Parts: sequence; structure tokens; C-alpha cells
Amino acid sequence: MYVDSHCHLSFPELAADHQGVLDRMRHAGVRAALNICVRMEEFGQVLALAEAQPDVFATVGVHPDTTETQEPTVERLVALAAHPKVLAIGETGLDYYRLKEPLHWQRDRFRVHIRAAREAGKPLVVHTRSAPEDTLKILKEERAAEAGGVMHCFTESLAFAREALELGFYISFSGIVTFRNAEALQAIVPHVPIERLLIETDSPYLSPVPYRGKTNEPARVVTVAQKLAELRSQPITAIARATSENFLNLFRPASSESLAAELFPAIEGNRII
Ligand SMILES: [Zn+2]
Ligand SMILES: [Zn+2]
Repeated sequence: MYVDSHCHLSFPELAADHQGVLDRMRHAGVRAALNICVRMEEFGQVLALAEAQPDVFATVGVHPDTTETQEPTVERLVALAAHPKVLAIGETGLDYYRLKEPLHWQRDRFRVHIRAAREAGKPLVVHTRSAPEDTLKILKEERAAEAGGVMHCFTESLAFAREALELGFYISFSGIVTFRNAEALQAIVPHVPIERLLIETDSPYLSPVPYRGKTNEPARVVTVAQKLAELRSQPITAIARATSENFLNLFRPASSESLAAELFPAIEGNRII
């Protein structure tokens, strides 16, 4: 039983066939998916799906690459995050790859999200690309450790992973770990403590091998788990269980007792150890 900790079910590629996507996800044993918001204008759709589906959860936030959008305030994010199915603030962070300086607005937006996460008492979903120093610097300056969170779609160095772990963050791997040219990333996988490991698809993007180039979807998080099991020389059941438990521990869904019961039906009293 698996959890996809990061997907974009409200993007058109997946929204066109929600029923099929969710059927295949459930059939693959993926018991929950966190549907990630990237624009304020998208939030209504993201939340509506989470309200309609017991195994879909939502976040609220604006992606660092989003330029044409209503700029979120701390107050607005905190208010929207009060909904019980909104589990986190994000995705937020820094991305110096696609857009170039001056990006002071991107750093300001990141700070707003961190403040909102601390105030709301909900964790952060952090996206970082080509901006490792500034990402860590801002996380520290804004005391992001108080909110916690996840480094999603991890592609940074081992040194970065260690700093993130020190801040109390989780590390989430996507289908990128299955790519042939991902040796450096694959070498990091065994260094992440199992109690801080998460898996994700980042669908509709980043379909894992052997589905590369096709539209990705939550069912394929199983392929990511398989690759982590191989790289860590652990059974896939251990990866499935740990990443599912970690999801509950980090995001603490209000329905976590019933979700835990579903995820771990064999455990006596449905208690998570
Ligand atoms: Zn991202
Ligand atoms: Zn994403």
C-alpha cells in the first residue's frame, strides 16, 4: 500500500480523466494522493477534488515558476489552509532554472509561504531547482523547521539532503530516480533515513522508466517505490510501509485514523508504530 505525496491531478492531462486515474491508482494499491496547488486560481479545483474523494488531499500555494497569478498573502494562505483536507502549504520554493534574476519576488513569495506554514501549523512542500544556497538560507532565516515539510522531487546533492534532514525535513523521490542518467541521485537514496523517506509521481510529469514520455499518474508511484527498494536493498513492502507511515506522520490528515486503518489493516488496533 502506497501514498503518492505529490501529484497535480488538477492539471488538464489528468483532469480529463479523473475517474480512470483514480481507478488505476486504487487498483495499484495507492491509498492516498496529495493533490498539489500551484496557483491561487487553481485552488478551488484542487480542493473540490479532495472534498469529493476520500483518498485525495489538497495543498494551497503558488509555485515559484508561476508568474501570472494572484500573489498570496500570509493571511489568505492561513485562512485557506484551515480546511481539514488541506494538509500543507505549497508547492513553494525557489527555481532559478527557468526564470532568471531579478527574482526577488520569488524569494519574497517563498518567505510568505514559510510564514503561513508556521502560523497555520502545517508543513511545507518545497520545490527547489538551481538555487540550493538561497533555499537553505531562507528556510533557516524564516525558521521553517518550526513548520517542517518535504523537499519534493529531490534532485539536489547529498550535502543538501543532510542540511534538509537537519532542519527536520523529509526527502521525497520521484520517477527521476529510475532514469538512466540519474546515478548521482541514485547514490543518495541509501543515505536518507527510512523514517524521512517519501515517494511521489509529480504527475502528469516525470513518468518513471519504463513509461518515460507518457503522461504520469499516481498509480506509477509503485515503480518509484520499487526503484528505492532496489537501491536500498530492502523489500518493497518495507518501503511501502515506511513511506505511508511517514506521510501520515508529516501531514497528519484529520482522517488519519481511518486512513491509517486502511493503510495498515493488519496492525492490531490500527495503531501506527
Ligand atoms: Zn515542483
Ligand atoms: Zn509539483
